[in-house]
This record gives sequence, structure tokens and C-alpha cells, in this order.
Amino acid sequence: MLLIIFFVGRGNVMPELPEMESYRRLLEPRLAGKIITDVHIEREKSINVSPDSFAKAVVGQSIVRVERRAKHLLFHLSSSQVLLLHLMLGGWMYLGSATDKPDRTIQVMLAFGAMQLHFIGLRLGYLRLHDAGEIEQLLSKLGPEPLEPTFTEERLSERLKPLRGTLKSLLVDQSFLSGIGNCYSDEICFDAGLLPARTASNLAPEHISKLHSSMRAVLTDALGYGGYMENALFAGDTLTGSYDSRCRVYDREGEPCVRCAGTIERREISSKKSFYCPNCQQ
Ligand SMILES: [Zn+2]
Repeated sequence: MLLIIFFVGRGNVMPELPEMESYRRLLEPRLAGKIITDVHIEREKSINVSPDSFAKAVVGQSIVRVERRAKHLLFHLSSSQVLLLHLMLGGWMYLGSATDKPDRTIQVMLAFGAMQLHFIGLRLGYLRLHDAGEIEQLLSKLGPEPLEPTFTEERLSERLKPLRGTLKSLLVDQSFLSGIGNCYSDEICFDAGLLPARTASNLAPEHISKLHSSMRAVLTDALGYGGYMENALFAGDTLTGSYDSRCRVYDREGEPCVRCAGTIERREISSKKSFYCPNCQQ
């Protein structure tokens, strides 16, 4: 009998705050001050101007800094224009050379001499060129950043009270909070012991307090482990993706709960894929 074992990876993931912040921390020291010497556009839909205009605006500029807002990265150029990146579902990056780049279709490449930053899997994602003023307008609807010191328990409570949605729908709503998506909304609810289907406005003060501290704890922990991306950012990068094996409910349907040995379930909540333990989350 022939036994075939398939190793199935997580497949397409949608990077969230920890993944994008981890990318930012790894990229900024490597790119700041570096001059963009060349660009290659394989997929015109990934950018917002013609490839010629893009190259004209970008080549010769240096990267001043790399910023993160919600699930976006902003590459600030010396011209004061900004490259706005959203990886969306399945997008990732690789920083390397022409010889060690991944064997994948690369939609956009920025060269810094021999070093190349490859943007891969940008089917829905994009790298768009904007003036600084446009950026503020484009990102003006984003909610607060959950790891900012100003995002206190009181502020979370004030924002939750008037709303009717489920915890799941609110946590992934970028106008409510910046940077949380399907994975970390489930991980945060699990950590807080709250069901993602709970109505947010009914939460008791102690639940809001737990939700706030779980949000901080889960996102900080995930960031410390480089998030749950599948691929390394550069050769020898052992940090990126280390959190994948530490997810406690996300993508773990049918597995035993690490807290109570119940069984992790998967259900659509507010039309979003959700994973939770029905035994120890209330
Ligand atoms: Zn449990």
C-alpha cells in the first residue's frame, strides 16, 4: 500500500499588526538611508500609477523611515512621497539578492544596489505611491492602535459601550481598532476567556478589563515571536513566523484546548471564520 503524506502549510495568511510591525522592525534598520536604484513592476495592478511614472518618482530616492499604521507599511521617501503597502491575503516580502530570491512570481521589486526587496503574492495587495497629504486622508478612518499607551482600558470601554456588534466583528473592524484581523481576534478572545460571538455592549467591566489586557498580551507576544507568517523575510531570518506554532485556537478546529482539554470549534461569526473553545470561553 502506498502511503502518501501531504504536508499542508497554513496557505494564504493575512498579515495583521504583529506581522507588519515585525516586518517594520526588521526592514527599517536594513533600508533606512538606502537609495532605490531600480524598480521592476511585473503586475501593473499592484501599483496606482504607470510603471514609468512609478520608476521616475521612486528611483534615486532614499528610504527615510518605515512606519506602520494598522496593517499598512509606509515607506517614506526622501522626496516626501510615500509608498503605501498593504499585503492583504497571501502577500509577503523577501529581502535578498537576485540569486537568493524565492521561486515565486514577484509582482513588484525595489532594488537598493545588489539588495532587492521583493513583494510577493500581491493579488489583492498593493504598493501605491502617494503624497504625504493623501496618506493622511486615506488612513484617516482608522481606529486607535491597540498597543499605543493612550489606548487605555477606559478608552476601550467608551468605544465598546454604544456598539451592538459581536466581539468578533468589532475586533476586526479597522475603524474600531487598527491592525487586528481573523487570527488575533480569535487569539485575544481565547486569552480573555470570552466567546467571539458575545455582544460587545453587554460586557461587564471585568470582562472589558480582561479583553484590554489580553489584547496587549497577545499582540505583544506575537510580535516578540515575529508573527505567524509562513516565509522568512531574508536568508537566516529565524524570527519571522515563530508565532505560528503558538496560536492557541486559530486554525485549530478539532484540536484539544490547551487550557481545558475541550475541543476547539470553528464557526462563522458575523460572516467571519472564528475559532474558539466552547468549554472555557464564555
Ligand atoms: Zn478550553
